[in-house]
Amino acid sequence: MTITSATRLLAVIGDPVAHSLSPLMHNAWLADHGIDAAYMALRLNGDNPAEAIRNLGAFNLLGANITVPHKEAAAAAATRTQASVANTLRWEPDGSLSAFNTDGDGFIDALDEASPHWREQTKRVLILGAGGAAAGIAAALAPHVETLAIANRTPTRADALAASFANAASHPWSKLDRAFTEADLIVQTTMIGMAGAPLHDWPMAACKQKAILLDIVYRPLETPFLAAARARGLTAIDGLGMLIHQGARAFELWFGVMPDTGKARERLIAALR
Ligand code: NAP
Repeated sequence: MTITSATRLLAVIGDPVAHSLSPLMHNAWLADHGIDAAYMALRLNGDNPAEAIRNLGAFNLLGANITVPHKEAAAAAATRTQASVANTLRWEPDGSLSAFNTDGDGFIDALDEASPHWREQTKRVLILGAGGAAAGIAAALAPHVETLAIANRTPTRADALAASFANAASHPWSKLDRAFTEADLIVQTTMIGMAGAPLHDWPMAACKQKAILLDIVYRPLETPFLAAARARGLTAIDGLGMLIHQGARAFELWFGVMPDTGKARERLIAALR
């Protein structure tokens, strides 16, 4: 597509953003739909990210995805918001700014796609980590399950997140064996297993044979957590599905059309190779 002075701009905003797969995914969808828009990666490292984001409206941006560490600032910058932590922004024709969070629904879409019967077999969930992604996932899962255990290296963060849900409790990071034994679904949301990050000796042998394990880290696509789960014959789901589905929901908020998530998976896997 040729970029002209009429081309509208979208972006992923974060720090860092150089690793982001969102420009590749969204530009391919824009081309699929013949939309005259371009999607960039904007690194934002200023002192006042909310103000910087708000000022982007003056440049006639159409929309944005927000990643670490600016999701709270994005919600604060908006005229109206559905959540205190936002991953999607849309500038409206009147210049106002709407904020949304598609992470939780994108996570559920990915789980539905990869393991369509997860609801019937999932009563107890273990979430590893208590950061921004864990918060969105916990909120999305809490209404569907009986109990949520949250284990985090820094226990106060697990305590704080668990306190937000009537059916959640924090679990000691040093006693993961017991939590792995009890869980029907285990969601790995920490940085462990990311390329260059530390590894962890997960107590995979303790898992139920029917347990479902999902790692939201997608670089590498096959994390040590997923490799260990597969080696035990457990259901193992990678993080690309969540990335694609949260992005597809953002695309729908901007353009009113749901893009092809299957095509996105093929393209992203090719890029990751
Ligand atoms: P975040 O808010 O910074 O939270 C990071 C989490 O990782 C915290 O729970 C932190 O524990 C834990 N952690 C970091 N290093 C650790 C270590 N060495 N040992 C144990 N725990 C460690 O980040 P986030 O936004 O939640 O993102 C977390 C990961 O999810 C990133 O890899 C990100 O790329 C990925 N992600 C994927 C998707 C997707 O669509 N697939 C979406 C969002 C995020 P402490 O509290 O103890 O520091």
